[in-house]
Amino acid sequence: MKTKILYLSFFAFLMASCGNKAEVKNEEVAKAQYECPMKCTDSLFSEPGKCSVCEMDLVEISNN
Ligand SMILES: [Zn+2]
Repeated sequence: MKTKILYLSFFAFLMASCGNKAEVKNEEVAKAQYECPMKCTDSLFSEPGKCSVCEMDLVEISNN
């Protein structure tokens, strides 16, 4: 009888471990960010453009 219980618990363990297997991919996406060279605002931009305050070209921030 004990063998059956062991077998059942092992089976339950297998089912649980299969169900909890959430594949988390940590893909590091290096996104370029841009900011005003005069730092008019603290906000960063995801696309190049011009500052809305001083109308200077946004500069890319290198995240080193
Ligand atoms: Zn600016």
